[in-house]
Amino acid sequence: MKLATFQYQTKCYVGVVSTDLQTITPYQLSDAQAAFGALPIIEMMADGKELPSQGAPIPMKDVCLLAPIPKPRRNIFCVGKNYLDHIQEIKDSKLGEAQGSMANLPKHPVVFSKVPEAVVGQGVGIDSHPGATQELDYEAELAVVIGKQGKSIKKADAMKHIWGYTIINDVSARDVQAKHVQFHIGKSFDTFCPMGPWLVSADELDSSKAAIKCWVNDELRQNATTQLLIFDIPTIIENLSAGITLYPGDVIATGTPSGVGMGFKPPKFLKKGDKVKIEIAGIGTLENPVI
Ligand code: MG
Repeated sequence: MKLATFQYQTKCYVGVVSTDLQTITPYQLSDAQAAFGALPIIEMMADGKELPSQGAPIPMKDVCLLAPIPKPRRNIFCVGKNYLDHIQEIKDSKLGEAQGSMANLPKHPVVFSKVPEAVVGQGVGIDSHPGATQELDYEAELAVVIGKQGKSIKKADAMKHIWGYTIINDVSARDVQAKHVQFHIGKSFDTFCPMGPWLVSADELDSSKAAIKCWVNDELRQNATTQLLIFDIPTIIENLSAGITLYPGDVIATGTPSGVGMGFKPPKFLKKGDKVKIEIAGIGTLENPVI
């Protein structure tokens, strides 16, 4: 199933997208619940509760899609340096120089986080923050959404803890990343976490070989598959959950392949008026302008 959060007329809803993508059938939730998008539905499923009844289908053309989980309960977990070619392109850049030996191939997953308030949905402008960064960059990523609480989850059991997947653009201020060494600030600016267009349940996507593409305007910049992940999704979940309990609705961005702006010589950073479009086969496309 595909779960979408959307605005229709003046209200926020979450509903099931039809297989032909032409309609969304909303669940009947209170306004307070609907403000959390797909999260209450995932939590009800985790608790084995009956799902709310559904209203009449609404044409897709009449809705404004929002981030599927517009208000995550806590930070978005993000894996850095998880594709070999991307590690190499960053190592060869100014950011790689600033990171020193940290820019090398990691022995264990490198995990940082983005604040939940950075999340925005389909079509929302990525703020270029001209007063705070001169090196705005994009990162196309497959994101995992946890469906079942767990701690010390073993690789063999990891897939049972996944509700599904979505697309995340791990927008980054490279100069801020380099200056502060730790990634948190440079990855957490307002609007730096476009998410969408919806969630796709785990049974609908083979996440071990999902094709990822990213265009800036009409130029194809990133083109890879999750077969190239250094640490695969079960390994990420095993490492992350070793000491941290994962909860339904937690989001884990799995890393970006090569082709980010910083990797070009000279770099191709984002500027106002650019459009970033990410496509993951089996999920859909996430497109955001830079403002
Ligand atoms: Mg990233």
